[in-house]
Amino acid sequence: MFTRRAFGRASFGAATALLISRAASTHADTAEGKFAIMKTEDEWKKVLTPEQFNVLRKHGTERAGSSPLDKTYDPGMYNCAACDLPLFSSDTKFNSGTGWPSFFKPLDNAVGPTSDRSFFMTRTEVHCSRCGGHLGHVFDDGPKPTGQRYCMNGVSLKFVPKATG
Ligand code: FE
Repeated sequence: MFTRRAFGRASFGAATALLISRAASTHADTAEGKFAIMKTEDEWKKVLTPEQFNVLRKHGTERAGSSPLDKTYDPGMYNCAACDLPLFSSDTKFNSGTGWPSFFKPLDNAVGPTSDRSFFMTRTEVHCSRCGGHLGHVFDDGPKPTGQRYCMNGVSLKFVPKATG
């Protein structure tokens, strides 16, 4: 029988891989709570690409480095790809080196946390506060001033460049 301590950090990589596949099957849907925008799976499939559906509605994780938004640092806003709610400002984006778009702070009231305690570890999932779409996870190893690292799937985000002139 594994204890939490014994299982700990040494097995982090394997545990993470297992947890990703497990999370996809144990969450029936992100919309376990009530959100301002609620759709059935079929309705979401009509408005999302298969990649977006897998992440936003099925807690999938895009391949690291696959999103062009990972290396985007232009001024603008990052909106929810499902419901268009503004979630993050480019002012809070930083290069985490993980291959996923990363921010140290979301916009006020834009995202909500869900504790994911499956498989001996606690990760905090981050979802859109308006549609419940899964965005990624937040960790406490981020830069100043918040010390938080919002590790987002680029496929869950839509970049809106700041209007110039
Ligand atoms: Fe949303």
